[in-house]
Amino acid sequence: MLSTDPFTAIIGHERQKKLLQHAFTSGKLAHAYLFSGFDGIGKRLMALALARLVFCDAGNGCGKCSSCRRIDHNNHPDLHTLEPDGQFIKIEQIRVLQRALAYRPLESTRHIVLIDAAERMHHSAANAMLKTLEEPPYGTIIILLSSQPQALLPTVRSRCQHLPFSRLRQTDIDKVLQSQVADETERNILAALAQGSLNKAFGSDRDFYLNTRRDVFTRISRLQPGSILPMLDLAAELGLDREYAEAVTDILISCYRDLFIITARGSSALLVNTDLEQSLQHLARKHTPASALAMLESILRCRTYLQHNVNHLLAMEWLLSRLVFTAPTQQGRQNKRA
Ligand SMILES: [Zn+2]
Repeated sequence: MLSTDPFTAIIGHERQKKLLQHAFTSGKLAHAYLFSGFDGIGKRLMALALARLVFCDAGNGCGKCSSCRRIDHNNHPDLHTLEPDGQFIKIEQIRVLQRALAYRPLESTRHIVLIDAAERMHHSAANAMLKTLEEPPYGTIIILLSSQPQALLPTVRSRCQHLPFSRLRQTDIDKVLQSQVADETERNILAALAQGSLNKAFGSDRDFYLNTRRDVFTRISRLQPGSILPMLDLAAELGLDREYAEAVTDILISCYRDLFIITARGSSALLVNTDLEQSLQHLARKHTPASALAMLESILRCRTYLQHNVNHLLAMEWLLSRLVFTAPTQQGRQNKRA
C-alpha cells in the first residue's frame, strides 16, 4: 500500500519528521517554529508537509484532497507565505499578514504562516512580527525558515521552538543522484560539490557546478603573469556580485584541492574534478605541494574576505593575482627534481 505520510517524500531529517508527526498526533504543535539550516536541504518542504498534515481533509496529509492540492499549488486561503520583497521582508508585508490573521480562518480551524528567509525581516518588520509571536491568534502556527538564525532578533528567536536541520548525509544525496543522473562523472562531481544541499545538485546551480566550474578553472589556469589585463577582466566577471564570487570560491576550492592531491602524488581516485584531470595534470607540472597549498589557502582567505563584506571585485582581483603569481618555492622545485 502506498504511504500517505506527507513526510515520506522528504529525504533525510528523520528526527524532525518524527518530532512534528508526534506533536501533530498528540495535539501538541507549538504556535511558532524556527526551522534553521543550510539553504536547499528541505526546510520549506518540511513546513509544507506539516501544513498538509494540519489542513488535509482526510487528516493525514493525503496529497490528493482539495486542501492538500491547494497547499501544493500555494493557493490555500489559510496558508500565508511570506518572502523577501527585494532585499527585505518589509513591515507592510507583516501588516497585511496581521490583518489576515485577525479574521477567522476561511476553511480550516487555524492559520499557518510560513516566513521564508526570516532573517531578512527588516528591523521594523521583525518588531511588528514579535507582537504576533507573543500573542498569536488562537490555533495559529508560525513557521520561520532561516539559513542564518543568528541574524534574527533574539526576542524573535526565543519565542519559537527551534528545530535545526543538518545538511543531508552524503549517502542520502548519493541515493538521489544515483536515481536521477546517468553520467557517472557528473554524478561524482555533483555529489562532491552539493555540500548536503539537493538544491545545489538539482536546482539552477547544476549548470554552474558542471559547466561554469570547467570554464572558470580553465580560464584561470591559462592566465599568464605577464599580461595583467585578461586577469582584471576575468576578476570583473567573477566578482560581479558577492554571492556569485562566493560560489566561485567554492568551485575553486574543489579544483585546487585536486591540484594539491596531484602534486602530492595522491591517488587519482581521490580527485573530484575528474573531467578536468588533464588540465589539472598540466598545471600540476608547474607546481609543488607547497605552492598548491598556498593557492588553496588564498582561495579560503578570499572566501573569508567575501563573508566579511570586503569589496567583491577587489577580493576577486586579489585572489586571481595570488593564483597567477604563486610560484613554486626553489626548495619545492629541487625536491620535485630529486
Ligand atoms: Zn489531503
